[in-house]
Amino acid sequence: MPDWVPDIARLQAFDDGEWEEVERQFCGRLLAYVSRRVRDREAREDILQETLLGAVRGIARFDALYTFEQYLFGICHNRTIDHLRRQKAQTLPGDDDEETPPVVEVLATDEATPSRIARGRDLGRRAQEILGHVLKAWVQETWQQGEFNRLMVIEALFSGGWRNKDTWRRFGLRDETAVAGIKFRALKRLRTLVQEQDPRGDVLPYLAAGDGEAEFDFDVSQTWRHQRVSCAARYWLGRMVVGSLPEGPQAFLSFHLEEMDCPWCRANLEDLRRIEEDPELEPLLERVRASTLSYLRSRSLP
Ligand SMILES: [Zn+2]
Repeated sequence: MPDWVPDIARLQAFDDGEWEEVERQFCGRLLAYVSRRVRDREAREDILQETLLGAVRGIARFDALYTFEQYLFGICHNRTIDHLRRQKAQTLPGDDDEETPPVVEVLATDEATPSRIARGRDLGRRAQEILGHVLKAWVQETWQQGEFNRLMVIEALFSGGWRNKDTWRRFGLRDETAVAGIKFRALKRLRTLVQEQDPRGDVLPYLAAGDGEAEFDFDVSQTWRHQRVSCAARYWLGRMVVGSLPEGPQAFLSFHLEEMDCPWCRANLEDLRRIEEDPELEPLLERVRASTLSYLRSRSLP
C-alpha cells in the first residue's frame, strides 16, 4: 500500500476531513520522533499539538520542493528543538541528537546560514530541485536494478561523507579503487541524468569532473538528506516490520536506518512497530484533533 499523501489544495482550504486524515496518518510517526528526544509526556503532547497547529497555520506557504511529510517533520523538529532549548530537558540516554542533520533549517526559509556558505557554494533553488530529482532518479533505478551494494556505497560517500578507505572494508569490496570505480560510474550516470533534466545547464557546473574526494562543488550530503532521496516508502518499512523484505532492500534499509541514522525513517519504523499497541497515541490524537479543529473553525468563520 503506497503511503498516503494529502491533497495540499484541500489542506490550504482548511478542509476538516483532510486535516483529520493528516492527524490519523502522521501523529504516530511524529510521536515516535518526539519520544526519542523528549522524556516528558506532557511536553511531547504539547509539541505534537504545536506541530499540527503550526502546519495548519503555515500551509498557505507550503513549498512544493518538499513532500508534505518533510514539511510536517520539519515543523516537528523545530518545535522539539525549541522545547529542548527552553527546558534544557534531558534527551534520552544515548541519543546524540546534536548530530542530527538540520533538515529543517532549509524549511525555515533561512537559506544562507553561515555554515552552509562555509561548506561550499550555495546551490540555487532551481539547482537544488533538479539535483534532488536526479539523485532520486538514480536511487530508484539503482534499487530497481537490485544493486543495493552500490546504493549503500554511494549513500555512505555522498550522504555519510565516508572516505574511500573506510568504505571498501565495510562493503566487502576488493580495495579503495573499487570504491572509486563505483563513484566514478555513479557520477557519470548522474551527469547524464542532469543533462536530461537540466537543458539550461544550471546544475552541471556544480558537478566537477572529479577524481579526488570532492566531486561536488557544494554540500551534496545536505541535498541528499534534506530531500530524503533514499528514504524508503512506508510500504518497505512496513514489510521490514513483518519480516518480509528481500535480502537487498533489507540490507539497504538496515544500513540507512542504523549507519546513516536517518531520523525520519526511524520515526516511521517505530510508528509502524507500535501502531497497534501504543496507549499514548489514542488520547493524544483526541487532544490534537480538538486543538486543530478549534483553529480550523476559527479560520472558517466569516
Ligand atoms: Zn530515511
